[in-house]
Amino acid sequence: MAEIKIESFAKINLCLDVLKRREDGYHEIKTVMQQIDLKDIITLKDNEDKVIIETNHPQVPTDSTNLVYKAWKLLSNRYNIDKGVYIKIDKNIPVAAGLAGGSSNAAAVLKGLNELWSLNISQKELMELAAQIGADVPFCIMGGTALAEGIGEKLTKLSSFSDKLILLAKPSISVSTAYVYKNLELNKIDFRPNTNDIIRYIEENNLESLATNMGNVLETVTIKEYPIIKEIKDKMIQYGALGSLMSGSGPTVFGIFKNEDDAIKCKAELSKHIDTVHVVKTL
Ligand code: ATP
Repeated sequence: MAEIKIESFAKINLCLDVLKRREDGYHEIKTVMQQIDLKDIITLKDNEDKVIIETNHPQVPTDSTNLVYKAWKLLSNRYNIDKGVYIKIDKNIPVAAGLAGGSSNAAAVLKGLNELWSLNISQKELMELAAQIGADVPFCIMGGTALAEGIGEKLTKLSSFSDKLILLAKPSISVSTAYVYKNLELNKIDFRPNTNDIIRYIEENNLESLATNMGNVLETVTIKEYPIIKEIKDKMIQYGALGSLMSGSGPTVFGIFKNEDDAIKCKAELSKHIDTVHVVKTL
């Protein structure tokens, strides 16, 4: 029986600005997304007519609400394929963390089924389909570094920003993306990142300037509610990070480090109080 294993990588946002609330309730954003080497492993196997989802993580659903199920449904409907699939999700990416774990899993399943079912769908078409699952899914297909506009689905590939040292820390609080956007007061934001500058620093491979100019307007909501996010950011700077920021709608905080020893010492310090701390690299 054919079996395929796919790596499903997380992302961070090097900057995130919200431009406006649209009539339909969605928000128009401008963000630079960066894939990192923290990954889940997705295993796909042929299965007659049913979809079976298994996972090692108690918070990940195994029913039709899992984004991997939506990916299967989308492809099987679109290409009239009357087959089920067995999907195993080995989770390492923290869940509900602002790291797009679910979106990345859905992207991996789209890519994997394309291979398992020999569909030969182009990356461009796969990304168009991916947007129907969620705004972050097309980026997870594309990977690397990209500017995302619209509701996050309009992507422009940027030059590579790989191999940068990142410390991730996720405090054990749950913050729903919907809550954060609902409570965002666009007229009360006092610092907005300059996305064009961030893009220029990426093109120049200028780590220091990038790290010191990052910004995420969603922090105005989450830090007010959860001061621990600011405490983690400050601790990272104290331990030598060039810059630190909340990823996406949080609560994960990342720090950009130049020196691996500093990152490891900071990890040891944060691990005294926080369960989920990882040293990773950008892809
Ligand atoms: P984003 O950065 O896109 O907002 P996130 O990292 O904050 O994503 P996810 O890890 O994708 O959030 O999970 C959010 C919720 O989605 C979870 O609480 C879970 O119930 C549900 N979910 C559905 N499919 C998955 C999946 N494959 N992996 C993880 N969570 C999933």
